[in-house]
Order: sequence, then structure tokens, then C-alpha cells
Amino acid sequence: MGRDLEIECTCGAVHGRARDVSPDSVNRVVCLCADCQTFARHLGRADLLDPNGGSDIIQLAPNAVSFDRGTDKIAAIRLGPKGPFRWYSTCCNTPLGNTTKPSLPFVGIVYEAFRDARDPARRDEVFGPPRASIWGQNAVGEPPPGSTKMNVPFLLRTIRMIFGWKLGGRAWPHPFFDRSSEPLYPVRVLTREERASARPAHRAAG
Ligand SMILES: [Zn+2]
Ligand SMILES: [Zn+2]
Repeated sequence: MGRDLEIECTCGAVHGRARDVSPDSVNRVVCLCADCQTFARHLGRADLLDPNGGSDIIQLAPNAVSFDRGTDKIAAIRLGPKGPFRWYSTCCNTPLGNTTKPSLPFVGIVYEAFRDARDPARRDEVFGPPRASIWGQNAVGEPPPGSTKMNVPFLLRTIRMIFGWKLGGRAWPHPFFDRSSEPLYPVRVLTREERASARPAHRAAG
């Protein structure tokens, strides 16, 4: 058994829980992709990116995550009409979880939302160190070692975990979708202009 963690936006208005968290039950990755950077910058939360522009993300089974307070302040943006749903708190722009539709069941939560794991040492203890850094092609400055090419062991681990959650019925209840896979909270697709203005400057728009 892992431990239960509190999820909370930076200002404390949105609150929830993550159940049974341990290094073996979650998948931790530092994502350096331009879209994650664009999302953080659009929210005005570049403070959550590491010096390379990376987002420290913990992937969990959907049914491990729930919200019990401030749910009227949950919304999502998508960078494009087919892009992932990037959920956040409208009160203080804290990322609360990246998802696709529930048919691919996972929730990727940026570390800041775990109230007790904002401290890096504590984060390593609770989630284990990151399994990989990915999309180093889009890193700010020198990409972390191994981040620019496909990390096959990490990819296989991710596939194994997500399909384990799917086959194990762990998509439901989902913190952001109802049983007909409709979003529970407002979703908005960024305009081309909004997306372009939040794109990291070191990478050409595209
Ligand atoms: Zn807040
Ligand atoms: Zn990313």
C-alpha cells in the first residue's frame, strides 16, 4: 500500500486527494515538450518549470484522484482541438492534471498540486526520482542526458501502466469526465494567437 496525498491548488481553494501513491503505483517523468511549456506560460506559471523548461509530472490512475472542494474553479484548456485536456484551477492557475479522453486512462499531475510534495527531497521520497526526461529537443539550454531520443524502457513502462489501469477498471470514477466521457468542467481551445504568444521563445512557432 502506498500513501494518500492531499491535492491542492497554490491558493488552497481547490482540494482533493490522491490514493495509494508509491513509486511503483505512479509514473514520474520530466516533460520538456514545447506544449507543456506553452501551457505553463499561458497560465502565467513558468515558475513551475525547471531550469530546462521541464514539467515534473506524476502520472496516476484516474480512480486514484478525486476532488472534494472548489470544483467550481476547475477548467481545462486545449492547445488545439485535438490536443490533450490540460486541467487547471481558475483561482490561481495551478495545473491539476493532463488527460486525454478516458479511453486512455491516466492523469498526469504537475508536482505543485501535491501539497505535501512541493519540496524536491520529499517528492523523491514519495514518488521516487523521475523515470525519464523526455522531449529534450525542446529543452531550454543543454538538454538533460538521454532526453533527446526515444526512451524505449520508459515508453514500455508507460504503456504497461496505462493498459494495466484500463484493464483493471481504474478509469472510473474519473476526476474530470463523466461515464459518457463528457467533461465535468468547462473546456476551451486556445486561439491560434493565444497559443503563439505563450510558445517558448527559443523554439519556432508551429
Ligand atoms: Zn487556487
Ligand atoms: Zn509535455
